[in-house]
Amino acid sequence: MGSLQIMLEDLFRRLEVDYVFPPRSSSQALSLGAAISPELACLPLKITLGNMIQGLRAGADTIVMMGGWGPCRFGYYSQIQKIVLKRAGYKFKMLTVEPPSRGLSHFTSPFKFLAPGISTRALWNIVRRSFQKGRAVDLIEKACLQNHCYVTEKNKLAQLKKQTLYLIDRAESKNEINEALRVGLKTIDSLKTEDKQPVLKIGIVGEFYLLLEPFVNFDIENYLGSKGVYLERSVYMSDWISPSGKNVVGGHRQKEIEKLADPFLSQWVGGEGQVTIGHTISFAKRDFDGVIHLLPFTCMPELIAQSILPAVQRQYDIPILTLVVDEQTGRAGVVTRLEAFIDLLLARKNEMLLRN
Ligand code: SF4
Repeated sequence: MGSLQIMLEDLFRRLEVDYVFPPRSSSQALSLGAAISPELACLPLKITLGNMIQGLRAGADTIVMMGGWGPCRFGYYSQIQKIVLKRAGYKFKMLTVEPPSRGLSHFTSPFKFLAPGISTRALWNIVRRSFQKGRAVDLIEKACLQNHCYVTEKNKLAQLKKQTLYLIDRAESKNEINEALRVGLKTIDSLKTEDKQPVLKIGIVGEFYLLLEPFVNFDIENYLGSKGVYLERSVYMSDWISPSGKNVVGGHRQKEIEKLADPFLSQWVGGEGQVTIGHTISFAKRDFDGVIHLLPFTCMPELIAQSILPAVQRQYDIPILTLVVDEQTGRAGVVTRLEAFIDLLLARKNEMLLRN
């Protein structure tokens, strides 16, 4: 999922675990997963199931999967995937890493199984270092996303991002990670062209997996950036993992976002349902021209958000485009809708300028 691999590879390397990563998510992974998934399961379950099949075929004998809790289905992904894969004849051990907030031992026990004899303190130090790397990756992603529209040489930016992520990946110590991050951010900033201004400002909200994995969201960030649109995204991987709720990368504390959502949705409904509402309001208050809402077909938290967003749209006068994605969705359809949305936002902006 997205650049998560850099952080996980660092973690397993430091734990001295022999690991296999499946290839990047692709239509092959999706078809493999969808072929044996329950039909109405949400898209991330199907594609991660396909990733698992590819990992097992590449020689893995153990699967490490995140756990969770609450009304969204993510909390029982690993159980369902284990049953479905066993039924399909695969032999493996499934380890589920529960969030630390559920109790430290639920979080540490899978790692202690993988690295027998490691102390909790040593494990924690390793997790912290790998997490630092995950955060550095997110900060680079954010800088590239937000600077895309100001850069004339888009290829150079893509190349620089790749190089910086490589340097972060290779870094060992805290200082090396910080140095790779510092140099990367400085160079990305230097690519900005003074006279280039964004044609529009759009915020992207929605379900976590869909926001972070370019294969399933049809790489819409790159597409919109290439059209000169300034973009901000509501969720970053390291913010999502961190239990602090400070959202250091995204820049908006969890409490602040929940407070904004409160008049429309006053409780957590699982996944990013409430966060989607809060961030949409935050974008509207910061004069964004529009919001794109991404949700996987049958995703319960985002369906709740979708049913509330028209009220937010009316109250804050901000256009919202919702894109529902499943394994049948094609890139051409998504691009057509994005083009139409951009045209609509530009026409609206021009009309407002004329009126003022
Ligand atoms: S947030 Fe939605 S798509 Fe993601 S796991 Fe939960 S129910 Fe499925």
